[in-house]
Amino acid sequence: MQIITTKQELQAAVQACKSAGKTIGLVPTMGALHEGHASLVRRCVSENDICVVSVFVNPTQFNNKEDLAKYPRNIERDAQLLSSIGADLVFAPTPEEMYSAEEMNSTFAFDFAGLDRVMEGKMRPGHFNGVVQVVSRLFYLVQPDRAYFGEKDYQQLAIIHHMAERSSMAGTFGDLQIIGCPIVREASGLALSSRNERLSETEKETAVAISRTLFASLEWAKEPGATVAAVQQRVVDTINAVDGLEVEYYEIVDQTTLLPTDTFDHAIGCVTVYCGPVRLIDNIKYA
Ligand code: AMP
Repeated sequence: MQIITTKQELQAAVQACKSAGKTIGLVPTMGALHEGHASLVRRCVSENDICVVSVFVNPTQFNNKEDLAKYPRNIERDAQLLSSIGADLVFAPTPEEMYSAEEMNSTFAFDFAGLDRVMEGKMRPGHFNGVVQVVSRLFYLVQPDRAYFGEKDYQQLAIIHHMAERSSMAGTFGDLQIIGCPIVREASGLALSSRNERLSETEKETAVAISRTLFASLEWAKEPGATVAAVQQRVVDTINAVDGLEVEYYEIVDQTTLLPTDTFDHAIGCVTVYCGPVRLIDNIKYA
């Protein structure tokens, strides 16, 4: 496995693969890798000749400086895991390598068709501009045939789908396929996240109530007379009743438009919860 830190070396490596007629898969990550990331990488390895994994804590998608500073980083451990599961190429640039000073300090403009006005987009202004900025740069550098993203970050996945559709119309990234992969959870139900590293053992046990409540809500949705509004409120109240947890939002929305819905058909519930200072996200599909 090759570890590359410059755009120039990356493009040279990609060019060599393309010339040899090899297919390329890309898994963008921010490192501090766990089994959730590993599931994406394994799928990428199995479906492409070459698997490229980027490990880059993207500063432009953080609207909270403390969150950026505290984001866990461990490139040696990440490289070991990636090598053991068969990744071919790791791209781990510095922020200065990725962006000019101007790019770093301005907001990347993009037409989200409203997908950024709800949930994470509403709570973290500019977050998805940074996500699209880094992902489009990675697509440009790697020119992948397939790119893999987790459903854990459901709104991000919806926005990347939208971005790929737009660029396919414009012919920017060829026939790039965006592949969404299911959420990987601990046996307890807690969704794996790099941010879990910041939780104490007790906080981790507390945080299990998030997924437990989401799964329980699948049953509440089937109760006679159940409404989206009532289930939504019951999820918020149940999680907030747990000492140490505070819901930022729980929204049941349409899986494609991310707009509020009053039916459980094609609906997904997305939640953000503070467990102490750590912000955790999770989601559940109703149908
Ligand atoms: P991150 O490093 O948090 O930016 O995540 C990199 C990719 O891994 C994103 O596409 C995430 O959605 C995905 N991912 C993170 N956690 C999980 C998980 N528990 N299950 C599946 N995919 C995940």
